[in-house]
Amino acid sequence: MNEDKATRYHRLGRQASILSTAWSLVLLSGLLLTGASGALRVWASSASSLIGAAGNPSAIVAFYVLVLSLIVDAAMLPLGFYKGFFLERRYGLATETTGHWLKDHLKAVAVGLLFAEIGALFVYATLRHWPGAWWAMSGLAYSAVIIVLVNLAPVVLLPLFYTFKPLEKDTLRDRLTALAAQAGTSIKGVYEWTLSDRTKKANAALTGMGRTRRILLSDTLLAEYSDDEIEVVLAHELGHHIQRLRGIEGRVRQAQEARPSAANALSVRLELQADCYAGIWGHSTAERQILEAGDVDEALSAAASIGDDRIQRMSGRGVQPESFTHGSSAQRVEWFKRGFESGDLDTCDTFARGTD
Ligand SMILES: [Zn+2]
Repeated sequence: MNEDKATRYHRLGRQASILSTAWSLVLLSGLLLTGASGALRVWASSASSLIGAAGNPSAIVAFYVLVLSLIVDAAMLPLGFYKGFFLERRYGLATETTGHWLKDHLKAVAVGLLFAEIGALFVYATLRHWPGAWWAMSGLAYSAVIIVLVNLAPVVLLPLFYTFKPLEKDTLRDRLTALAAQAGTSIKGVYEWTLSDRTKKANAALTGMGRTRRILLSDTLLAEYSDDEIEVVLAHELGHHIQRLRGIEGRVRQAQEARPSAANALSVRLELQADCYAGIWGHSTAERQILEAGDVDEALSAAASIGDDRIQRMSGRGVQPESFTHGSSAQRVEWFKRGFESGDLDTCDTFARGTD
């Protein structure tokens, strides 16, 4: 794939995301302004009497949310298909069939509907019982649910869509577990994540909390990269974890929203900092010699290829810096080395002036 094609793939993907957000806003305000939402409320009310729960507020909310969700899902389907399937297929990244994609999509709709129903029923119940404090009650419950979901997602939600099995490479598993411990995170398992039945993209993730905290490595990653490279990939992901803990990521996201023209430059700095943190873990691991001898550059480009950046690394042509959100190879190696040599978080201030 050449650079123009890669850039186009990213641009089309971004445009589809913006269009989805705009379209859902138009759709929801349209339903409100045209009175369709009111009509749906009236219908939900009569539907509640059909099941012998006439006037029951929870039944009305449940019917309303059911139909609203189905309308929104149906309206969003073409764009979702375009971005999630058509683009991936067109640019040679998808390995799945239309039927497989549709099955996953329907499962996602069902799970989404379940959460929408529970959420709406709860919010309306608090509105009825605590009219003065419903927002506080709902806010608290929402935070609690997020914490539970983050814990349960790797165990309950992800297996609905993907197949996982414990990683069979013992040395790699031990190296990654030790690396995570260095970064202050205790890992309860390393799993192989089957993605090759749907995409050629490599992926890795650190998911869950507490007892469900685990590392997921896609089979596409394991097939294509050496253990050393995978270790650097995880070190980079752990760098992002530290950024979240220190509130850096949140501040950068806010700054990006406030100043969209600087969004890419900020993203580069965030990525370079994760590289610098990755260097710090390299500094303190037993694999120091291996990393020192190995090609850091290659390992870092493996880290950059995680997620949708992969497509840019696959391109054979010249680099267009503005389309990269990870920084150039030279910048990445420089920051990795800075962390590697100092072993000190404070040397990783990529946001200070004059670091370009
Ligand atoms: Zn990154």
